[in-house]
Amino acid sequence: MKAIAAFCALSFLTTLSAQQRDYPVKPVPFTAVHVNDGFWAPRIEINRTVTIPFAFGKDEETGRVDNFIRAAKTLRGEPFENKKYPPYPFDDTDVYKVIEGASYTLSVHPDPKLDAYIDSLIEKIAAAQERDGYLYTARTINPLQPHPWSGQERWILEGVNSHELYDLGHLYEAAAAHYAATGKRTLLDIALRTANLLCDTFGPGKREIWPGHQIVEMGLVKLYRVTGDERYLNLAKFMLDVRGPQSKEEGAGNPYVQAQMRVVDQTEAVTGGHAVRAVYMYSGMADVGALTGDTAYINALDKIWENVASKKLHITGGIGARAAGESFGADYELPNMSAYNETCAAVGNDFWNHRLFLLHADSKYIDVMERTLYNGLISGVSLDGKTFFYENPLEATGFAGKDQRSPWFGVACCPGNITRFMASVPGYVYAQRGDAIWVNLYVASNADVQLDNGRKVRMTQETRYPWDGAVKMTVNPDQSAALTVHVRIPGWARNEPIASDLYRFVDVNNAPVALKVNGKVVPVKLDMGYVDLTRTWKKGDTIELAMPMPVRRVLANDHVAPDRGRVAIQRGPVVYAAEWADNPGGKVRNLLLPDSAQFTAEYRPALLNGVEVVTGKAVALSYDGQGQVVKHEQDLTMIPYYAWANRGRGQMAVWLPDSEASAHALPYPTATTTAKVTVSGRPQQRNVEVIKDGEIPEKSDDPASYFDWYPARGNKETVDYTFAQPVTVSECGLYWFDDTGHGGVRVPASWRLLYKDGDEWKPVQTKDQFGTAKDQFNLVKFTPASTTALRVELQAQPNVSVGMQKWTVK
Ligand SMILES: [Zn+2]
Repeated sequence: MKAIAAFCALSFLTTLSAQQRDYPVKPVPFTAVHVNDGFWAPRIEINRTVTIPFAFGKDEETGRVDNFIRAAKTLRGEPFENKKYPPYPFDDTDVYKVIEGASYTLSVHPDPKLDAYIDSLIEKIAAAQERDGYLYTARTINPLQPHPWSGQERWILEGVNSHELYDLGHLYEAAAAHYAATGKRTLLDIALRTANLLCDTFGPGKREIWPGHQIVEMGLVKLYRVTGDERYLNLAKFMLDVRGPQSKEEGAGNPYVQAQMRVVDQTEAVTGGHAVRAVYMYSGMADVGALTGDTAYINALDKIWENVASKKLHITGGIGARAAGESFGADYELPNMSAYNETCAAVGNDFWNHRLFLLHADSKYIDVMERTLYNGLISGVSLDGKTFFYENPLEATGFAGKDQRSPWFGVACCPGNITRFMASVPGYVYAQRGDAIWVNLYVASNADVQLDNGRKVRMTQETRYPWDGAVKMTVNPDQSAALTVHVRIPGWARNEPIASDLYRFVDVNNAPVALKVNGKVVPVKLDMGYVDLTRTWKKGDTIELAMPMPVRRVLANDHVAPDRGRVAIQRGPVVYAAEWADNPGGKVRNLLLPDSAQFTAEYRPALLNGVEVVTGKAVALSYDGQGQVVKHEQDLTMIPYYAWANRGRGQMAVWLPDSEASAHALPYPTATTTAKVTVSGRPQQRNVEVIKDGEIPEKSDDPASYFDWYPARGNKETVDYTFAQPVTVSECGLYWFDDTGHGGVRVPASWRLLYKDGDEWKPVQTKDQFGTAKDQFNLVKFTPASTTALRVELQAQPNVSVGMQKWTVK
């Protein structure tokens, strides 16, 4: 290790003064901002005390730490039994990410035990590093049989899926964080050895391939910032420039990995492009553009941002609407129930928008960042910090597995991303340049802002934001000085949800934003979304901002088909959802919000760790026995979207119908809807109730609510309805689940229908076909039978699973 240290020290000799160009605006680091509010401070503390230890525990329990130990054994030539490659070639990153998150917490909260634990992990990582710096357990454990996504040789499948560079990108982020927090070079030295290997391996005339999953660009920039070694910045730039259709490498031209054209020519978040990869790349482009002064990246980013903000952003700030390929959909493809909106994509969206703000000093980026932050990002973790969402849909039946958070995932990118993001949230509050300070987020806090000239300004905020729009700031320069404080007036307070025509408030909020300096009213004159307060500031000067926070209705652009005839509710930066637990009968998908509905907001300290709820009246729709829709008014309670699914699984909706045409009336209770459902093989928790809920699927692969036996293949299965009392039945309809193209479930090979006669199951008498058509109900009429139970017996096709969307009975 001594030789390694000496080698790395060399790279520090390159001049740090090379870093002349950078973002015009600089963030005030999270270590300088001490949050003491009721919203973020408890979350950051739960992240530190619960989520981080929990995630490290999962890394151990699931073999992710063991992967490094096994790789080290191979390197030492020790015999050992389990030489199987890890389940995914990116499992190493789940350790790196949590180290990054934990390092951030160490920066503000010394914890010798945690520090020592991280040291022990770093020793394991160091031991898994190959002699020349290569670090990737998915190959090192067994080079003869590496992970199939990795290829038999290093880097050959890097262009799409090997994730060798992805793993290193996360290592660099972790290493920079650990070095900043502890001053220890242990992880940094490991990272620099790998980075030096990359510098030797990649570049013009050497290997010319890009990272299939981006992040190494951002990571290399962090190493450049730590060391001043320009090779790392140059390599980040190379890895952006080499991407595109001109290459002969695997992945050339593939939009999934943003290689459909050269990055500087890109103008949109292309349909089918993996969302997390995309926003990590955009963040890397911003970094390299800022540090090199190359405006081509920034011009491209401006166009891409316009596309996302005007056509591909959910109202919750979620991006990446499609589950298939975890990708961006087409323009205005913003479904609710099937919205994918990966938590990692929300994190990446905030990385990117924050960087665009640092480039342009325009608050429209903070509007997107804040919308994501308070809604579709923190929805990714439960209030107790122990369970996570990978997907963040805007509507739920409560029947789908994804309608409840999970303690971990096979692909566990999201929990680790939460740990590192939460720990660094205070870094998004302020920014500075020259004699100017930007106040971007409103969070009760104290911050020590260091200006470029070395002077210090202590900024304090007192506020109940996001529940109240009143903010009292105190500006305390170390000595009186001419400064500009840019006070952000969020889009939501200016009748502009975001700076595009994708969403609009129905009403105009006429209650003006009021601003006072030392008690005197100052005009709210906006420049790029900020009021610029330029004056000589002295200790104790105050800024009072009052932003009225009425409950607002939001409409989506008419091109967004799923939101037509629907309205969303927002108050301040917070988007609301109606959830089963707060509403009569545990149903919300049958509610309608008439235009005349009035809302009030009230703070409930005991609910969901303290939330402002929105209450009012809604109209509930249900069918009567004659098939007519009956309406009745009932109480409505809405909670912040981020807080849903903390009380069990059930219905949820962000966009509520404002007209009957787009509402779902509750089905009339029948023998079917009240029947007890039992299924063969699979445990009962697997969404079985969904098959009798009376709704009509859109198509056989409708992901909203289905039941299947996946991954059981080729079996004969049964589903039984048991009725409370004997019923006479004469018709059944079966709507099969089939996800050809993106899953392993197909319509059955054959099936039949039985009824219970005493203790015996007998086939129904019919001449009808037992159909297996997709995208429709397959009806079977039979001789009426009086029975207490019905059974569907079905045979799966060979080597695939079988499932059903709905089973109706008459
Ligand atoms: Zn993820």
